[in-house]
Amino acid sequence: MTRSSPTSNFPADRGRAPIPKVSDVPTPHGRFGAFGGRYVPETLCEALNQLGEVYQRVSRDAQFWDELHDLLRTFVGRPTPLYEARRLSEFVRARAGRETARIWLKREDLAHTGAHKINNTMGQALLTLRMGKKRVIAETGAGQHGVATATAAAHFGLACEVYMGAEDVRRQRLNVVRMKMLGARVIEVESGSRTLKDATNQAMRDWMGSSETTHYILGSVVGPHPFPMIVRDFQSIIGRELKAQSLRLLSKLPDTVIACVGGGSNAAGAFYAFIDDPQVRLIGVEAGGRSKSPGDHAAPLSYGTPGILHGSLSYVLQDEQGQTADVHSCSAGLDYPGVGPEHSYWKDAGRVTYTTATDAEALEAFTLLARTEGIVPALESAHAVSHAIRVAADMKPDQNVVVNLSGRGDKDVDEAARLLADAPTPVASL
Ligand SMILES: *Cc1c(COP(=O)(O)O)cnc(C)c1O
Repeated sequence: MTRSSPTSNFPADRGRAPIPKVSDVPTPHGRFGAFGGRYVPETLCEALNQLGEVYQRVSRDAQFWDELHDLLRTFVGRPTPLYEARRLSEFVRARAGRETARIWLKREDLAHTGAHKINNTMGQALLTLRMGKKRVIAETGAGQHGVATATAAAHFGLACEVYMGAEDVRRQRLNVVRMKMLGARVIEVESGSRTLKDATNQAMRDWMGSSETTHYILGSVVGPHPFPMIVRDFQSIIGRELKAQSLRLLSKLPDTVIACVGGGSNAAGAFYAFIDDPQVRLIGVEAGGRSKSPGDHAAPLSYGTPGILHGSLSYVLQDEQGQTADVHSCSAGLDYPGVGPEHSYWKDAGRVTYTTATDAEALEAFTLLARTEGIVPALESAHAVSHAIRVAADMKPDQNVVVNLSGRGDKDVDEAARLLADAPTPVASL
């Protein structure tokens, strides 16, 4: 195995647990270049400092990572497979009329609870125990992070309360029921647009008054320092496994790795192990929605400007007064006006390319993957699949594209059926 990258010496799926590498970003103040930082009321600083100190300690504690790694193996079901999507690749080849690249899927959809989010919630729940706290809170939009948090809390016997916008409670009934089954209390937020942004504000407010007994399990690589770093580290297991699997199955690194970007946690997790391998092209796919017009998409890296949202500086969708813009995506998990600061840093550094897939393109990829491979993806992940189809057509047959398939689509079948009923048959050629 090559040692060219500081992370490549960890055999991801056997032996000792991988301790995330200590990199030069973020700085001790949580800066990724100009981005990141900690723009929060004074009352939150103490809780964030404590979290930072505990994390510093455990990041050198092999026992912590061994314990987490063991749980990821026996409870979450890791390592998730790297699977070759042969019929999808064949579809792309036939449509292009020439030899094209091989497409592979990193199967995060097979992780417990159906998405990558559990990698982070198990890690943060273990941190909660290390801090001697007995209660966790979380924000959730579509409910996926709420379910993953409620699952981790049930596993460890922690009290769990999840803030969710009243509008989302109505739209995501199934996940509300799942959280309650798992013993969590779901708190409906009636303020603002009654969606994720408002739930996040409410969770932060709770934490200001409760941080002595409570840990806030944030769901993506966003928010004030040290959250973007901690969530990235917990999700980086995806890329470390992928690297080892590529070397085993392909005898080389993949040429291109593609992931969808909401807050950016599954993408950061998939990309992080490859950041120091410049020959690996990394592409993040945002929600292109209905159009490029403000309010019609959820693509801050593609169409936004630097600003402050939820405690850190990053690309944000905002108007000229700095008011956060409305967003739209067919997938609830991508429907967020901000993005993690490290993605902003990677964008400006030119290390990662960011693009969009529209609702219609994601929906086509959703159907295509279901019919060619027998895998119904999350609508979020379908955005990444859509772009993989696009780039694979321009690549050579000895090249490999990996899509991080962030989640499974059971949660989306009603919405997809409703959208497909209105759309022309998207894959008539099948
Ligand atoms: C939540 C979610 C996302 C978006 O979140 P990131 O932090 O950008 O990964 C993507 N895919 C699935 C399946 C999700 O549940």
